Order: sequence, then C-alpha cells, then structure tokens
Amino acid sequence: MSDSPVPGSLVALPGHLYVIATPIGNLNDLTDRARALLGSVDILACEDTRTTGAMLNRLSLRRDLVAYHEHNEVEAAERLAELISQGRSVGLVSDAGTPALSDPGFRVVRACRRRGLPVVPIPGPCALTAALCAAGLPTHGFLFVGFLPPKSSARIAFLEKYRTFEFTLALYESCHRIAKFADEIAELLGPDRVVCIAKELTKLHETFWVGRSADVRDRLAKANLKGEFVVLIASESYTL
Ligand code: SAM
Repeated sequence: MSDSPVPGSLVALPGHLYVIATPIGNLNDLTDRARALLGSVDILACEDTRTTGAMLNRLSLRRDLVAYHEHNEVEAAERLAELISQGRSVGLVSDAGTPALSDPGFRVVRACRRRGLPVVPIPGPCALTAALCAAGLPTHGFLFVGFLPPKSSARIAFLEKYRTFEFTLALYESCHRIAKFADEIAELLGPDRVVCIAKELTKLHETFWVGRSADVRDRLAKANLKGEFVVLIASESYTL
C-alpha cells in the first residue's frame, strides 16, 4: 500500500505514473499541468501513436511514444509498471479524454497500485462529465456503463433492467446506432422519459438534444448524426 504522492509539480517525478486527460475535440481544453507533464515524463504511452503524435505536433512537442492499447494492454501494463518501479516516469494518454474511462488504462494503474507505486491523475476533458454538467438532468447520482453491446437485444435488456433505476443513466453510443437507440428508449421507457443526447462536445457542431424521449427521437431523425455521442437517461420520476 502506498501513500499518495503530493501532486502539483509541473515536472514529472521519477517512479510515478501520470494518467493524463487530453482534449475531446478542443485543444484549448488541455490543462497547463497536462501539457507540462506530456513534455516531461520519461516515457509517454498512448493508444494510437498517430493520434497522439498529431496532438503533440499541434503543441509543438516532440516525443517518442510507446503503444498501450486494448490489444497489448496486459503485457504493456506489466512492462510499464516494471519501468516505473526502476525509477522512470510514465505518462499515459488515450486518443482523447480521460484514460481508463471506456479506454485502456485500468490495467497499468492496477499494476502500479499492486506494486505500491504512485499514480497521479491529471484530470481534464471527459465526454461523460462534459455531457452531465451541461445537460440539466439530475447529477446527484448516476450510473455510467460505457458502451452497450452493439446488438439491439442487449440494449433492450439493459433498458428493461434499469427501467426503474433511481438515478441518471449515462452511456456512450456510436453514430451508427444512436438513432435506433433513441427509438428504443422511447419505445421501451415511454415517450415522456427525459433524455439528453449530446453530440460532438467541445467541437464546432456541439449539440444537446434534451427533452421527452419521443421528441428527441423525432429531432434526431432530422439531424446530421455524424460524430460522437453521449446518452443520458433521467430516472422515471424526473420531469422537465
Ligand atoms: N475516455 C474518453 C473520455 O474520457 O470521454 C472516452 C473514450 S470512448 C473510446 C469514445 C466515446 O466517448 C465516443 O464514442 C463517444 O461516445 C464519447 N465521446 C468522446 N468524445 C466525445 C465528444 N467530443 N462528444 C461526445 N461524445 C464523445
């Protein structure tokens, strides 16, 4: 068991893992602390070297990158934890947003915690919190489930299971299924269930559709649905 390190330094400390949030669309959302650590860690691990390389280029930062993604996560987590235990500082980023939230990251954090190595969060952009904080649906409690399985039957089973859940439900959904999912919500949870569908947060075409599920479904049917989406579903007792 390790005590938490004192955070705050803009220079990476030896033997630390930094979990660094990066923008979900707007580069200005990168924090000063994230930028400083991106430039100072010994090793920067990322999901896709091209995506992170492009971000670093825009920040005029030149870094060698190592891959840490869903296909090598088990082995890479142990290797990175070993390097940290030898005194190297490691930064972990994902393609966008907060690592380990519907993104790779959990395994290297766990590997460090198991070895008693310090892990420092560098908080910042996250599609989940961006949607929640601006939707106007209750936020005193929520259940985030990431992505649902692509099959319609799994989404329907989820909606049935949580029909009477007392807090807000939050999930990520792909542009290919968002219209269908909005339809399923209106059909299964009823036309008056309050929902928010947030598209392209922090980007040029950021849009919030908030209202009765039947109305949101109808508005979505006429909208351009290219982009990235967060779905929020209020509890059945909530009305606008
Ligand atoms: N770890 C990331 C985070 O902190 O938000 C999420 C990564 S997950 C692989 C990607 C999904 O997050 C997208 O398919 C979409 O559902 C959601 N997402 C990411 N960026 C978004 C944005 N700018 N607007 C809306 N949803 C977004």
